Parts: sequence; C-alpha cells; structure tokens
Amino acid sequence: MDEFSLIQRYFTPLGLTKDRGVVEGIGDDCAVLDLPQGHQLVVSIDTLVQGTHFLSDAPAYDLAWRLLGASVSDLAAMGAEPRWLTLALTLPSVDEVWLSHFSEGLRAASLAYNVSLIGGDTTRGPLTLTAQVHGLVETGRGLLRKGAKAGDIICVTGTLGDSRGGLETLLKSASYNEDVSYLRQRFYRPTPRVSTGRLIRGFASACIDLSDGLLGDIRHIAAASGVGVQIDSARLPISAPLKRYVGEEQARQWALSGGEDFELCFTLDQTHWETLQQQRPDWPVEITAIGQITSSNEVQVRFDGAWQASNVQGFNHFTE
Ligand code: ADP
Ligand code: MG
Repeated sequence: MDEFSLIQRYFTPLGLTKDRGVVEGIGDDCAVLDLPQGHQLVVSIDTLVQGTHFLSDAPAYDLAWRLLGASVSDLAAMGAEPRWLTLALTLPSVDEVWLSHFSEGLRAASLAYNVSLIGGDTTRGPLTLTAQVHGLVETGRGLLRKGAKAGDIICVTGTLGDSRGGLETLLKSASYNEDVSYLRQRFYRPTPRVSTGRLIRGFASACIDLSDGLLGDIRHIAAASGVGVQIDSARLPISAPLKRYVGEEQARQWALSGGEDFELCFTLDQTHWETLQQQRPDWPVEITAIGQITSSNEVQVRFDGAWQASNVQGFNHFTE
C-alpha cells in the first residue's frame, strides 16, 4: 500500500465535515478555513514518540485518544473552542491492523473532542504521532499563564494523580478490578476540560493544563505572573479508586507531581471565586480550591500543617 492509498483509506474518510468553516479539507496542498468575525485562532501541537511517551505494546486505538486528548487540553487551557486537527504520522511500516485501530480511535476521539481532521503528513521512520489542533476564542478573551495576582485563589478541576495511578497499573500488570479499570481509563482517555475553560474565560486571572504534574506546571503560572504559590496538600482532590489502589500518602504525592492528568489549574480573585461557587450547578466538573497566590516567588506546599518550599520541576525531556 502506498502513501496515497493509505491516506485515502484511513484518513480521508475522517475529514467529512464540510461545515465548521472548512472550505477545503484533506486532498489539496493546504486546508482552507473560514474564521468567524471577532475571534482569534488558537493553535497548539503535541507529539508522542514510541519509547518516550508510550510503551511499544500500547493499543493504537487508545494512542489516538491520548494524542488528541493532550492537544485539545491545551485549547481548553486557553478557554478556546476546538475546531480543526492536522495530523503528522511517522510509521515504521504499513501495518494495516494498527492503522485501522488508530483510525477508528481517531474518528471516535475527534467526534468526542469536537475537532475535524483537515490534513496532515505521512512519512516513514520510528513511530511518532503529532497532532496540531486549532481552536477559536473571542478576541482578547483567551486565558494565559500570566495574570495571577497575590491573594488569588488557586483551583483545579476533577481529581489529580489518577493518570499516574493508571500508568502504575500498566507497569505492574495489575490484575483487573473496577479501580484498576478506572485508573487506566484516566490514563488512556484524557478528558480535556473544554467546557470549564469556556466557563472561566474572561475572568480567571491565569490558567494552565496539567500535563507535567501540578507542582511543575504551577511553576509556569508563578514564573509568567511573577508571583508565588501556596498549595495545601490536604485539599488536593483525590479519587476514591486512586486512594484504594495506592493508599492516601502515595496518592497525595502523585496528585502533586504525577503527570498527564490533563485537568485545568487556574487562578481567580476572591470575588470571582464567590460568583463561580454560586454557579456550581452548572459546573461541567467539580472544581476545588487548593491554595492561593502569594507575593513571594516561592512554591510552598503544606504537609500536616507545616509549609515546605518545593523545588519540584515538571517533567523535562532534556534534564539529565
Ligand atoms: P503534499 O505533498 O502537498 O504535502 P501530501 O501528499 O503530504 O501532500 O498529502 C496529500 C493530502 O493528504 C494533503 O491534503 C494532506 O493534508 C493530506 N494528508 C497527508 N497525510 C495525512 C494524514 N496522516 N492525515 C490526514 N491527512 C493527511
Ligand atoms: Mg506533505
């Protein structure tokens, strides 16, 4: 099977959407897109490399979800509405079983996350998957990492540490039970918090999605905003399955530093926090206040009542 029939068979059928501003999709040299008035284009790209981001036996169907979930989560962190997807695939060979599972996963995930495939590139080499997503935000209303102010409340969505727990169940080949299944689901199927990003756009003072672990990622908000951070570890939202699987203490550690949760972490002032709490029935997912912004430039964590300075950095590909 050559490159063009591969694209024809596995990817062209996913690019069906002629609405959503797609003037030309897969098949020409470029996609042509209509941008609605009063909006800005928000763009992000993510790569998964075999051996670095996933194990060699990772199911292709799940990889597609994982790839898209991570990218769309970046759009969520900006308060953007997902629209389009371009896909660069580097494949060691044409493995039709792998391709059909990947393509099925991509179809399901792009429907779930609301992005239309509009083009890509297909090359030969070590297995590498790259997704670029494009979204829209009302002009000037995108959420940034900069803007947090001393006194702001720090919030996170959902529960933290589950994805790290899911990875552990795979590394340990844990035998199946409902908790293991939940944790693996959290690892393989990120749930980008797009609706929450849309809800808080315009009034959250800063926002980031949690891909490298809370302590590492919140450092980016602190640095971009020129502020410090205090997090109370007792207030971190932790799921019951994670607690049962690894126990309270390990769960708390993973909530602080485990990666790939793809929850949102955002800051807002006290007044907006009170307003947001009144809208709780409309929250797409639970939101938990876990600490506050300070005027120092330290990241501090409270364990058992005592504040400790944290020097945890997020995962970094080029740190020895
Ligand atoms: P070019 O040589 O002009 O870059 P390609 O032969 O790479 O064009 O691609 C042909 C068409 O197929 C283009 O519209 C491109 O966007 C699309 N395409 C290529 N690979 C993929 C892929 N993996 N997924 C979706 N579309 C793809
Ligand atoms: Mg090309």
